[in-house]
Amino acid sequence: MIWLISANGKMYDHAGSFAHYGSIDWRQGNSKYSIGDIVYIYCTSPIQRVRYKCRVTAIDKNSSEIRDDKDYWINKEEYEKSLDGKFLNLELIEEVDSEKLSLPFLQEHGLKAAPQGPIKVNEALESYISSIFSTANDEFFPETIESSPEIFEGIKKQVSVNKYERSSIARAKCIEAHGHSCKICNFSFEEIYGELGKDFIHVHHITPIHSIGKNYKIDYVNDLIPVCTNCHAMLHRQINGKYLTIQELIKLIS
Ligand SMILES: [Zn+2]
Ligand SMILES: [Zn+2]
Repeated sequence: MIWLISANGKMYDHAGSFAHYGSIDWRQGNSKYSIGDIVYIYCTSPIQRVRYKCRVTAIDKNSSEIRDDKDYWINKEEYEKSLDGKFLNLELIEEVDSEKLSLPFLQEHGLKAAPQGPIKVNEALESYISSIFSTANDEFFPETIESSPEIFEGIKKQVSVNKYERSSIARAKCIEAHGHSCKICNFSFEEIYGELGKDFIHVHHITPIHSIGKNYKIDYVNDLIPVCTNCHAMLHRQINGKYLTIQELIKLIS
C-alpha cells in the first residue's frame, strides 16, 4: 500500500529528527498500515510540498517501545497527548525539496486537496511522485559516484553518509554556509558556464565513516562541503587503499 500523510512543522521538527535518527516513530491513528508500506510525507504550510519518502518498518508500538524524541517536539503538550496511542516506525528512504512536489503540481496529478489525515495514493499519483523522487537529486549525485565506494566492511555506513550528500535540505544548508565554489580547487560553475551552471555544485560529506554511529547527528556546516564534480569524484577514489582528506587533495593539486 502507498500512503500520503501530512506533517505539521509547527508541532514537530521532522527534518531535524530524520537527520538525527533516520526514522521517526509516528502516531498511527486508525489507519491500517502494514510493514513494508511506502509512506510519502506532505509538509503543511508554509512548505506545502511532499518532502519525504519512507518505509513502514514497524507497527502497533506503544509509547514505552519507541525512542524518546521529546527534543524534536515543538509543541510539548501534543507530545504528552501522543503518548497514549500506538505508533508506527517510518524509516526515511529519501528526501527531496522540489517545486514539482508542491500542492499545485500534486493537484494536477490527481490529488484532491492538501492532505489532512492519511490518504491511500492511487497509481497515477504514485507514479508521478515516485518519478520526481527518483530524479530530483540525480543531477547533484551522478551514478558513477554513488557506486564508487568499494564493497568493504563499512558499506552500510557509506550509504548512510551519502544520504546527506543526496539530501536537498542538507545541500541547501551547506551551500548557505559555504557558497557555490569548490572548496578544493575553487571552481565556480556559474563563472565558467554562466546561467547554465548557476547553483550547480556537489556536496561532500567529510565525517569519517567510523564515526557514523546510530545516534550520529549531522552538523550541516562542519560535516558537509561544496565541491566540484571532479574533486568530488577524486574524494571518492582511493590511493593505496585510503581516501584522501580535503587537505591532502588540496595539497595534491596545488
Ligand atoms: Zn574542485
Ligand atoms: Zn562525497
